[in-house]
Amino acid sequence: MLLKNKSAEIYVESKPNGGEVARVFVGEGISIPQLRAALNGRVIAPDEAGYDEARTVFYGGFDRRPAVIVRAADEADISHVVSLARENDMELAVRSGGHSLAGHGVSDGGIVLDLSDMRALHIDAERRTASAQTGLTAGEYTAAAGAYGLATGFGDTGSVGIGGITLGGGVGYLVRKHGLTIDSLLAADIVTADGRLLHVDAETHPDLFWAIRGGGGNFGVATRFQFRLQEVGTIVGGMLVLPATPDVISSFVAEAEAAPDELSTIANVMTAPPLPFLPAEYHGKLITMAMLVYAGDAEAGQRAIAPFRALAKPIADMVRPMRYPEIYPPEEGGYHPIAVARSMFADVVDRRVAETMVDHLQASTAQMAVTQIRVLGGAMARVPAGATAFAHRGRRIMLNVAAMYGHPDEAAVHEAWVAGLTAALRQGDAGVYVNFLGEEGVARVREAYPGATWDRLAAIKARYDPTNLFRLNHNIPPAID
Ligand SMILES: Cc1cc2nc3c(=O)[nH]c(=O)nc-3n(C[C@H](O)[C@H](O)[C@H](O)COP(=O)(O)OP(=O)(O)OC[C@H]3O[C@@H](n4cnc5c(N)ncnc54)[C@H](O)[C@@H]3O)c2cc1C
Repeated sequence: MLLKNKSAEIYVESKPNGGEVARVFVGEGISIPQLRAALNGRVIAPDEAGYDEARTVFYGGFDRRPAVIVRAADEADISHVVSLARENDMELAVRSGGHSLAGHGVSDGGIVLDLSDMRALHIDAERRTASAQTGLTAGEYTAAAGAYGLATGFGDTGSVGIGGITLGGGVGYLVRKHGLTIDSLLAADIVTADGRLLHVDAETHPDLFWAIRGGGGNFGVATRFQFRLQEVGTIVGGMLVLPATPDVISSFVAEAEAAPDELSTIANVMTAPPLPFLPAEYHGKLITMAMLVYAGDAEAGQRAIAPFRALAKPIADMVRPMRYPEIYPPEEGGYHPIAVARSMFADVVDRRVAETMVDHLQASTAQMAVTQIRVLGGAMARVPAGATAFAHRGRRIMLNVAAMYGHPDEAAVHEAWVAGLTAALRQGDAGVYVNFLGEEGVARVREAYPGATWDRLAAIKARYDPTNLFRLNHNIPPAID
């Protein structure tokens, strides 16, 4: 029996002792056993134990069944799989840490190329560089570099893959001090749509090097990154929980903007989860749960953080001197929230804007509703807008509105809530950071690449991926001559 699973064919064969065994022919005449023989890494077929786990991504609500999942062991495997997908016109999902909000790390009927077995990391402490395979997570990389008192800035979550966060830009705890993740990217190895492995840097394939610094997974499979490491030993950082009044929120933002570049902040105005360090009377109520990182001298750090502590009596204060890797606490495995989220840039969060946030958040019926405020500027803003494909260098604040909920059936109500608050917060030409985009349509992808950035990316896409093999992403179609 031959079944068509989108572009893959599943051949179900009767076993002599009864029962059935599925043999998957990926594309035209390439069987799972042949694929296994050709690759050094693991090949996981739909009929195997471990398939369901292997097709699971961070966000819940994506029940997609790939024809095959390949856990690549090396560059040769990646090149093979890329060629296989191209020759058979199969959808290809490229996955590093699996945290795509749009579920781009898993394909329905196509091939998943999972890089999570490629986690080699070499730190050259003397030259302050790191060579990292892209299956590493931000937390793993940070822990290893931290042993030398060094760091590259990623985001706020350790389990995010360095593959996806880097290619989109990378906004995190060191953004004001050391810029985006891509501002520390010195070079990359990338398998392009024709299956070739290219080394790209400012001198070699400079167009491609420009494009992968913000253009996401559109241009090939990044196998390895070379990063600059910064000296980030002890920081003053951690969580500060404050009341969520409009005054506290707007004053927090004002202080964060006035703070020295050493201090980067991420403030989540949200319904308080029942965490042991939060007094019970706050559970389910709105709080401002802020993460602060002062990357510099401890005494100066305490001085920089004092104005935030003075905004109101803290509900919890866990800000302390710590080694930088401690900012990524261990995460609970098996956590797969269903979420709807919208991101935008803003110029101002004054009392009126904060009041809008509070009013809307209080009206949400989600398990957890949040507006996240990231004050930008500093080193990120000092890089010229056209220097990389991340073109939002001048934006002052990033806002992320999100609702987490229990069942896909509830989607409509939470989508409406998120849309309502997003519209209320929107300030002129909002724009969006590509890594915080869900599946929001073509116009929103264009908002991620304003002005000439889009045209330049589309031209580079036409050169390196003319058939749009890498399309399961926030897609930039190749320019047509
Ligand atoms: C809980 C959470 C917290 C987050 N916090 C931050 C944050 O603080 N700052 C921030 O900037 N972002 C943050 N993000 C967004 C995050 O950067 C993006 O979701 C990113 O794409 C995730 O990368 P990944 O490798 O884990 O995901 P994946 O789903 O594996 O990859 C996402 C996409 O990136 C591309 N891709 C990934 N790896 C490769 C590769 N090696 N080669 C080619 N293409 C590749 C593919 O197109 C893929 O579909 C967060 C996301 C989550 C879920």
